[in-house]
Amino acid sequence: MNTFYHSTRSAADSVTSKQAILAGIAPDGGLYVSDALGETRLALEDVCAQDFHATARLVLGTLLPDYTADELASCVDAAYGAQWDSEAVCPLTPLGTDWLLELYHGPTCAFKDVALQMLPQLMSVARAGDGRKIMVVTATSGDTGKAALDGFAGVEGTGVTVFYPYGKVSDIQRLQMVTQLGGNVAVCAVRGTFDDCQGEVKRIFADRELASRLAERGVVLSSANSINVGRLAPQVTYYFDSYAQLVRRGVVRMGEEVTFCVPTGNFGDVLAGYYAKRMGLPVRRLVVASNANDVLTDFLTTGTYDRRRDFHKTISPSMDILVSSNLERLLYFASKGDCELVTSLMADLAEKGFYTVPERVMDEIRSTFACGRADDADTRETIFDTWRELDVLIDPHTAVAKHVLDALPADGTERVCLSTASPYKFCADVLAALGEVTDGMNGFACMDALEAKTRTAAPAQLSGLRADAVLHDDVCDRERMGGFVESACARVFL
Ligand SMILES: *Cc1c(COP(=O)(O)O)cnc(C)c1O
Repeated sequence: MNTFYHSTRSAADSVTSKQAILAGIAPDGGLYVSDALGETRLALEDVCAQDFHATARLVLGTLLPDYTADELASCVDAAYGAQWDSEAVCPLTPLGTDWLLELYHGPTCAFKDVALQMLPQLMSVARAGDGRKIMVVTATSGDTGKAALDGFAGVEGTGVTVFYPYGKVSDIQRLQMVTQLGGNVAVCAVRGTFDDCQGEVKRIFADRELASRLAERGVVLSSANSINVGRLAPQVTYYFDSYAQLVRRGVVRMGEEVTFCVPTGNFGDVLAGYYAKRMGLPVRRLVVASNANDVLTDFLTTGTYDRRRDFHKTISPSMDILVSSNLERLLYFASKGDCELVTSLMADLAEKGFYTVPERVMDEIRSTFACGRADDADTRETIFDTWRELDVLIDPHTAVAKHVLDALPADGTERVCLSTASPYKFCADVLAALGEVTDGMNGFACMDALEAKTRTAAPAQLSGLRADAVLHDDVCDRERMGGFVESACARVFL
């Protein structure tokens, strides 16, 4: 029970969930999974009678059994407190005949807050007594960086360093990062692309000389990547909690199945839905919605995952991904824990750029998962139609999911569309989708125009940026990133 987690690629060594959270990835490159997933099914009567916080404690207690109830209770209080602008944390609202699950009420206005407000709490409990300090290093294409900064800012014994590609994030996203307060945070723009940032962060993690210099100071590097068990587990909560909201609204009878449609990139969000199903949530379908980077649509249709394709830059940038890392966990569970199969598929992906999954495993996957795609034109049209017909303003990622959901034949179940970002995070693209000209307008001009056009209000977390001072103006070349991390460690852990 204590050593609960092992790698998707080998069951030989097992670790506690605290160890898995501190390590992030298993030493053999696999992801941490537990064979006990599904042994404990949550009691729906309890879930339907309680609030988000109680369900979070229940879910985390099941998935992270070596944390005590007291530890988890204080993590939940710290992660889901007054920094959320909705008391429900993740409220469910009507979307025509379907439902919108609003996951963007946290401090950075994207769904990543659900996990990244919690991960630092879990890490800081896990490292208690160990004495080492943790510097989290992250490359971001926009959303993750700010969510990590906000989550780790001020958390005892931890620091966070974020790299973003210079000139390649939205104006609002940049301002969110460069105004971040906190004595343990560092932010730097890099002359290059997101892939350059990401590639160099991977090299920094593999740099043994750097690691030993930091170890002398008692510092270890860690990542806040979405493959971390500590990011996956918190996301299971809102699947259960949204079901409870449906039951309390009287639209679903307890035990009746529902369908979720999820705008997908790294497969973390939708995988949490699969965990919820294994833990007893009545789920008919999990619908994987992709943008023009439709590698998952092809995979679910053909059984072959093929990353050898062009990368498309879209207006839903957080889903611009060719390798969906968390899919490895689904392959593990759908093959009934066949580590050898998972190892050989991942070797194929690394060596040949593609793999083909046996039909029996695909049958298992397809019994739960459906899929669909939306290109940028579909996405814009969906933003326009949803505003015109339903008076609901949605962001481009959510619009991808709504387009896919609308194309699906109705099966009589209640359907929940996951909404992963505030439309105000992507003001320019949303305005353009509504038919406005945005040429030459900066982020705040677009924010004003979007408020005026829709008579909705920008979240205070974003409109408040106007008054915030720029605190981080470093720009460096890729080669200097390692040095930046080292000096950030020196400064933060004085
Ligand atoms: C990260 C992100 C996604 C994709 O989530 P995954 O867990 O990577 O599949 C979708 N929408 C938004 C706004 C995001 O920030």
